[in-house]
Amino acid sequence: MIVMKFGGTSVGDVARVCAAAAIVEGQPQPRTAVVSAAAGVTNLLLEAAQAAASGDAGRAGAVTAEIRGKHLAITSGIGDGHERAAALEVLDRLHAALDHALVDVANAGALSARDSDRIVATGEKAMSVLMAAMLRARGTPAVHVWADRVIATDDRFGGARPDHARTRELAGREVRPQLDAGATVVFTGFIGRAPDGATTTLGRGGSDYSATLLGAALDADEIQIWTDVPGVLSADPRQVPGARVVPGISYDEAQELAHFGAKVLHPRTIRPAVARGIPVRILSTFAPEKPGTLVTRDAAVESVKAVTALTNLLLLSIDVPELEDLAAASAAVFGALRDDRIEVVAASQASSRRRMTYVVDAGSHGGCACVEQRMEQALDAADVEAEVGCLEDVALVAAVGAGAAAAPRTLSLMLAVLGREDIPVLASSQQLSNVALTATVPARDAARAVRALHETFIRPQPASARGRRPRRSDLLAESLRVG
Ligand code: ADP
Ligand code: ASP
Ligand code: MG
Repeated sequence: MIVMKFGGTSVGDVARVCAAAAIVEGQPQPRTAVVSAAAGVTNLLLEAAQAAASGDAGRAGAVTAEIRGKHLAITSGIGDGHERAAALEVLDRLHAALDHALVDVANAGALSARDSDRIVATGEKAMSVLMAAMLRARGTPAVHVWADRVIATDDRFGGARPDHARTRELAGREVRPQLDAGATVVFTGFIGRAPDGATTTLGRGGSDYSATLLGAALDADEIQIWTDVPGVLSADPRQVPGARVVPGISYDEAQELAHFGAKVLHPRTIRPAVARGIPVRILSTFAPEKPGTLVTRDAAVESVKAVTALTNLLLLSIDVPELEDLAAASAAVFGALRDDRIEVVAASQASSRRRMTYVVDAGSHGGCACVEQRMEQALDAADVEAEVGCLEDVALVAAVGAGAAAAPRTLSLMLAVLGREDIPVLASSQQLSNVALTATVPARDAARAVRALHETFIRPQPASARGRRPRRSDLLAESLRVG
């Protein structure tokens, strides 16, 4: 059983949907294709919802017309008249439901997370209908299944957490019979079902996670993430043009990469695959013949494989007058961060033992002013005397690679590189069992830090350099590289 997932760019227009359909058909059955919304559609849906909430019906109407236009353009590529008409009918119902939901939001004058998820699910639902119709029109039996009947979650709208046991049960009921009947199942990414049956979402970029959740629920033999890059690269290609494909990485490494900002995988993607030992492959729909990246339990080489950056973070610090107050202060702060669902990306205690620092995901939490005030309230409520500090525009850069990240030499080299580049290190972390080594730096320096670290740890080999005799400077750089 293969589960494939196609991202937004890979189903962005008629030609891309056709190319994705051909890839689906090339895989052995039974098979499931998890689809994202067409590129840009999720953002447009959110824009329409926000416009409706702010009373701008004109803008909301213009945006929904654009969404409808994108879907209709793809419909025109469905080669069979009957399939095209049937798909149009379902799309009409989806677009009408969207319009109704937007009217509800306009009447409420505010956008709840519950409404937002219901609205934003339109993109994935429409794509599943389009892809299934496209496959059938090409002669491949296919059905669409919406994940708000299958992926059971809690009710944290906008970032719901899955219920694996219930999902397994629902997948057995809703998906398995279709596969057994010989159909290719086209499944919506990104969305799930709250306990009360409402539609939830797994967070932006969550279709990767949908694929592994479904793959685990169906005991898939392999999960394939089809995207617009030829695998996991040694850095974000938009930051480092010379980044190269990493052929093999371990689950741990992939998890760290995703956690520390490699957008190619949603941060939660890997865990469901680990639990059942399912290999995950990252492949490009633009170059389907390339081998891509294979993620499995064991790492192939113990070297730094990729450098990533996570931006939009805050550095929060808590100082207490007496050492014995630190545990109470930490408890209050961690409690407040948990209550407010603010993710702690890294935390450390300074050597004076009177200061804790937390690198937190600022996300939509209103920056330092709000977070600082919230922590002060929590410390007051716990009756702990402490001083709260907060720094905005912080980034975390990470060098990812099992073995290498745990080597003290890697940390010294990382700090030396950042020092040479004059990039201040606000905090850094290394532990013996680390798979990633991290340094917190000002956000404005993050891209430069990634480039410099990539140059040192991974340095792409230009084609012209291959085969020539190494220069002394190359050998020196090689001896500095870890792994
Ligand atoms: P999809 O729509 O297929 O889910 P995404 O845009 O979410 O695609 O993720 C793919 C993008 O992730 C790539 O186009 C690339 O710009 C970005 N990216 C960031 N870091 C990495 C990395 N280390 N390896 C590969 N891609 C990366
Ligand atoms: N369409 C959703 C998003 O844009 C989910 C995804 O692409 O994975 O966030
Ligand atoms: Mg993505």
